Amino acid sequence: MSIATNITSIKAELESIKVKLIAVSKTKSAEAITEAYQAGQRDFGENQVQELVEKHNLLPKDITWHLVGHLQTNKVKYIASFINLIHSVDSLKLLQEINKQALKNNRVIDCFLQIYIADEDTKFGLEFDEAIEILRSEEYLQMRNIRITGLMGIASNTESIKRIQEEFYELSMFMKGLKKSYFEGKEYFNEISMGMSSDYKIAIEYGSTMVRLGSTIFGKR
Ligand SMILES: *Cc1c(COP(=O)(O)O)cnc(C)c1O
Repeated sequence: MSIATNITSIKAELESIKVKLIAVSKTKSAEAITEAYQAGQRDFGENQVQELVEKHNLLPKDITWHLVGHLQTNKVKYIASFINLIHSVDSLKLLQEINKQALKNNRVIDCFLQIYIADEDTKFGLEFDEAIEILRSEEYLQMRNIRITGLMGIASNTESIKRIQEEFYELSMFMKGLKKSYFEGKEYFNEISMGMSSDYKIAIEYGSTMVRLGSTIFGKR
Protein backbone atom coordinates (compact mmCIF):
# COMPACT_ATOMS: atom_id res chain seq x y z
CA MET A 1 0.00 0.00 0.00
CA SER A 2 1.20 3.51 -0.75
CA ILE A 3 1.81 6.16 1.89
CA ALA A 4 -1.13 8.16 0.54
CA THR A 5 -3.47 5.17 0.76
CA ASN A 6 -2.33 4.45 4.30
CA ILE A 7 -2.92 8.05 5.36
CA THR A 8 -6.36 8.13 3.82
CA SER A 9 -7.56 4.94 5.42
CA ILE A 10 -6.05 5.56 8.89
CA LYS A 11 -7.32 9.15 8.93
CA ALA A 12 -10.82 7.93 8.10
CA GLU A 13 -10.62 5.35 10.88
CA LEU A 14 -9.40 7.91 13.45
CA GLU A 15 -11.45 10.95 12.50
CA SER A 16 -14.75 9.22 13.20
CA ILE A 17 -13.60 8.64 16.80
CA LYS A 18 -11.84 12.01 17.15
CA VAL A 19 -8.35 10.64 17.69
CA LYS A 20 -5.53 12.69 16.19
CA LEU A 21 -2.95 11.08 13.94
CA ILE A 22 0.70 12.05 14.34
CA ALA A 23 2.65 10.63 11.39
CA VAL A 24 6.06 9.71 12.81
CA SER A 25 8.40 10.38 9.91
CA LYS A 26 11.79 9.81 11.56
CA THR A 27 14.39 8.40 9.13
CA LYS A 28 11.94 8.92 6.23
CA SER A 29 12.71 11.24 3.34
CA ALA A 30 11.20 14.63 2.57
CA GLU A 31 9.59 12.94 -0.46
CA ALA A 32 7.82 10.41 1.75
CA ILE A 33 6.59 13.21 4.01
CA THR A 34 5.42 15.18 0.98
CA GLU A 35 3.37 12.21 -0.18
CA ALA A 36 1.64 12.06 3.20
CA TYR A 37 1.21 15.84 3.14
CA GLN A 38 -0.45 15.72 -0.25
CA ALA A 39 -2.84 13.10 1.09
CA GLY A 40 -3.91 15.68 3.68
CA GLN A 41 -1.67 14.88 6.66
CA ARG A 42 -0.40 17.94 8.57
CA ASP A 43 0.87 16.59 11.91
CA PHE A 44 4.31 14.99 11.76
CA GLY A 45 6.52 13.65 14.54
CA GLU A 46 10.30 13.37 14.69
CA ASN A 47 12.60 12.07 17.38
CA GLN A 48 15.87 13.84 16.58
CA VAL A 49 16.48 17.56 16.73
CA GLN A 50 18.83 17.83 13.76
CA GLU A 51 16.56 15.82 11.47
CA LEU A 52 13.56 17.81 12.65
CA VAL A 53 15.28 21.14 11.92
CA GLU A 54 16.35 20.03 8.45
CA LYS A 55 12.87 18.81 7.54
CA HIS A 56 11.23 21.91 8.97
CA ASN A 57 13.45 24.07 6.74
CA LEU A 58 12.70 22.01 3.67
CA LEU A 59 8.98 21.33 3.94
CA PRO A 60 5.76 23.40 3.84
CA LYS A 61 5.35 25.87 6.68
CA ASP A 62 1.83 24.80 7.59
CA ILE A 63 3.07 21.46 8.92
CA THR A 64 2.53 20.98 12.66
CA TRP A 65 5.75 19.53 14.08
CA HIS A 66 5.82 17.25 17.10
CA LEU A 67 8.97 16.19 18.91
CA VAL A 68 8.32 12.68 20.21
CA GLY A 69 11.83 11.57 21.18
CA HIS A 70 14.12 12.38 24.08
CA LEU A 71 15.21 16.02 24.09
CA GLN A 72 18.54 17.17 25.47
CA THR A 73 18.45 20.48 27.28
CA ASN A 74 21.22 21.98 25.14
CA LYS A 75 19.24 21.36 21.95
CA VAL A 76 16.03 23.12 22.87
CA LYS A 77 17.29 26.35 21.31
CA TYR A 78 17.34 24.83 17.83
CA ILE A 79 13.61 24.07 17.76
CA ALA A 80 12.13 26.72 20.05
CA SER A 81 11.18 29.08 17.23
CA PHE A 82 8.88 26.64 15.46
CA ILE A 83 8.10 23.46 17.40
CA ASN A 84 4.36 23.01 17.98
CA LEU A 85 4.31 20.31 20.62
CA ILE A 86 6.99 18.54 22.66
CA HIS A 87 5.71 15.13 23.77
CA SER A 88 8.80 14.12 25.71
CA VAL A 89 9.32 16.43 28.68
CA ASP A 90 10.96 14.27 31.33
CA SER A 91 12.52 16.71 33.80
CA LEU A 92 11.97 20.07 35.44
CA LYS A 93 15.32 21.21 34.10
CA LEU A 94 14.20 20.52 30.53
CA LEU A 95 10.89 22.30 31.10
CA GLN A 96 12.77 25.33 32.48
CA GLU A 97 14.96 25.45 29.38
CA ILE A 98 11.94 25.16 27.07
CA ASN A 99 10.31 28.01 28.98
CA LYS A 100 13.46 30.13 28.67
CA GLN A 101 13.86 29.52 24.94
CA ALA A 102 10.14 30.04 24.30
CA LEU A 103 10.38 33.40 26.06
CA LYS A 104 13.33 34.38 23.83
CA ASN A 105 11.14 33.59 20.85
CA ASN A 106 8.20 35.40 22.37
CA ARG A 107 5.92 32.37 22.27
CA VAL A 108 4.27 29.72 24.41
CA ILE A 109 5.27 26.13 23.69
CA ASP A 110 2.83 23.31 24.37
CA CYS A 111 4.34 20.32 26.15
CA PHE A 112 3.37 16.87 27.38
CA LEU A 113 4.93 15.26 30.40
CA GLN A 114 6.28 11.88 29.34
CA ILE A 115 5.29 9.32 31.93
CA TYR A 116 7.17 6.11 32.41
CA ILE A 117 4.65 3.28 32.17
CA ALA A 118 6.64 0.44 30.59
CA ASP A 119 8.03 -2.49 32.46
CA GLU A 120 11.46 -1.96 30.89
CA ASP A 121 14.41 0.15 31.86
CA THR A 122 15.29 1.40 28.40
CA LYS A 123 12.67 4.10 28.08
CA PHE A 124 12.70 7.71 29.22
CA GLY A 125 10.00 9.24 31.30
CA LEU A 126 8.88 10.48 34.68
CA GLU A 127 7.55 8.32 37.47
CA PHE A 128 4.09 9.40 38.67
CA ASP A 129 5.48 11.07 41.79
CA GLU A 130 8.16 12.91 39.82
CA ALA A 131 5.50 14.36 37.52
CA ILE A 132 3.53 15.54 40.53
CA GLU A 133 6.66 17.05 42.04
CA ILE A 134 7.12 19.16 38.88
CA LEU A 135 3.50 20.33 38.91
CA ARG A 136 3.83 21.38 42.55
CA SER A 137 7.17 23.12 42.17
CA GLU A 138 7.54 26.86 42.55
CA GLU A 139 9.64 26.91 39.38
CA TYR A 140 6.82 25.39 37.30
CA LEU A 141 4.21 27.70 38.78
CA GLN A 142 6.29 30.69 37.67
CA MET A 143 6.64 29.57 34.05
CA ARG A 144 4.72 31.68 31.57
CA ASN A 145 6.03 30.42 28.23
CA ILE A 146 5.17 26.74 28.40
CA ARG A 147 1.77 25.12 28.72
CA ILE A 148 1.31 21.49 29.73
CA THR A 149 -1.56 20.19 27.63
CA GLY A 150 -1.33 16.48 28.33
CA LEU A 151 0.68 13.33 28.94
CA MET A 152 2.64 10.92 26.77
CA GLY A 153 3.46 7.30 27.45
CA ILE A 154 5.12 4.40 25.67
CA ALA A 155 3.92 0.92 26.59
CA SER A 156 6.17 -2.09 26.97
CA ASN A 157 7.32 -3.79 23.81
CA THR A 158 5.64 -7.09 24.63
CA GLU A 159 3.36 -9.75 23.22
CA SER A 160 1.22 -9.49 26.35
CA ILE A 161 -1.90 -7.53 25.46
CA LYS A 162 -2.90 -7.63 29.10
CA ARG A 163 0.25 -5.84 30.18
CA ILE A 164 -0.16 -3.16 27.50
CA GLN A 165 -3.77 -2.67 28.58
CA GLU A 166 -2.68 -2.24 32.19
CA GLU A 167 -0.04 0.32 31.27
CA PHE A 168 -2.43 2.42 29.17
CA TYR A 169 -5.07 2.15 31.86
CA GLU A 170 -2.62 3.47 34.46
CA LEU A 171 -1.70 6.43 32.29
CA SER A 172 -5.28 7.30 31.65
CA MET A 173 -6.18 7.07 35.36
CA PHE A 174 -3.19 9.25 36.21
CA MET A 175 -4.40 11.81 33.67
CA LYS A 176 -7.82 11.86 35.35
CA GLY A 177 -6.23 12.40 38.74
CA LEU A 178 -4.01 15.25 37.54
CA LYS A 179 -6.96 16.93 35.85
CA LYS A 180 -8.79 17.06 39.13
CA SER A 181 -5.88 18.01 41.36
CA TYR A 182 -3.74 20.32 39.23
CA PHE A 183 -5.70 21.43 36.16
CA GLU A 184 -9.15 22.17 37.51
CA GLY A 185 -11.04 24.24 34.97
CA LYS A 186 -8.12 24.17 32.52
CA GLU A 187 -9.74 22.79 29.39
CA TYR A 188 -6.46 22.69 27.51
CA PHE A 189 -5.12 19.87 29.65
CA ASN A 190 -6.88 17.08 27.82
CA GLU A 191 -4.55 15.12 25.58
CA ILE A 192 -3.13 11.64 26.07
CA SER A 193 -0.49 10.72 23.52
CA MET A 194 -0.36 6.94 23.62
CA GLY A 195 -0.28 4.22 21.00
CA MET A 196 2.21 3.35 18.25
CA SER A 197 1.82 1.08 15.23
CA SER A 198 1.79 -2.13 17.25
CA ASP A 199 -0.58 -1.03 20.02
CA TYR A 200 -2.62 2.01 18.96
CA LYS A 201 -5.92 0.12 18.84
CA ILE A 202 -5.48 -0.86 22.47
CA ALA A 203 -4.44 2.70 23.36
CA ILE A 204 -7.62 4.08 21.82
CA GLU A 205 -9.74 1.72 23.90
CA TYR A 206 -8.06 3.21 26.96
CA GLY A 207 -8.68 6.84 26.04
CA SER A 208 -5.81 7.91 23.81
CA THR A 209 -6.49 11.20 22.01
CA MET A 210 -3.33 11.13 19.86
CA VAL A 211 -1.61 8.16 18.27
CA ARG A 212 1.95 8.26 16.96
CA LEU A 213 2.24 6.03 13.92
CA GLY A 214 5.40 5.46 11.93
CA SER A 215 5.72 2.08 10.24
CA THR A 216 1.97 1.64 9.70
CA ILE A 217 2.10 4.70 7.44
CA PHE A 218 5.60 4.79 5.98
CA GLY A 219 6.58 1.12 6.10
CA LYS A 220 9.46 -0.48 7.96
CA ARG A 221 12.44 1.64 9.02
C1 LIG B 1 9.30 5.80 16.39
C2 LIG B 1 8.31 6.25 17.38
C3 LIG B 1 6.93 6.05 17.15
C4 LIG B 1 6.37 5.33 15.95
O1 LIG B 1 6.71 3.98 16.00
P1 LIG B 1 6.02 2.90 15.01
O2 LIG B 1 6.14 1.63 15.74
O3 LIG B 1 6.80 2.93 13.75
O4 LIG B 1 4.62 3.31 14.80
C5 LIG B 1 6.06 6.53 18.11
N1 LIG B 1 6.49 7.16 19.22
C6 LIG B 1 7.80 7.37 19.46
C7 LIG B 1 8.20 8.07 20.72
C8 LIG B 1 8.74 6.93 18.55
O5 LIG B 1 10.05 7.14 18.80
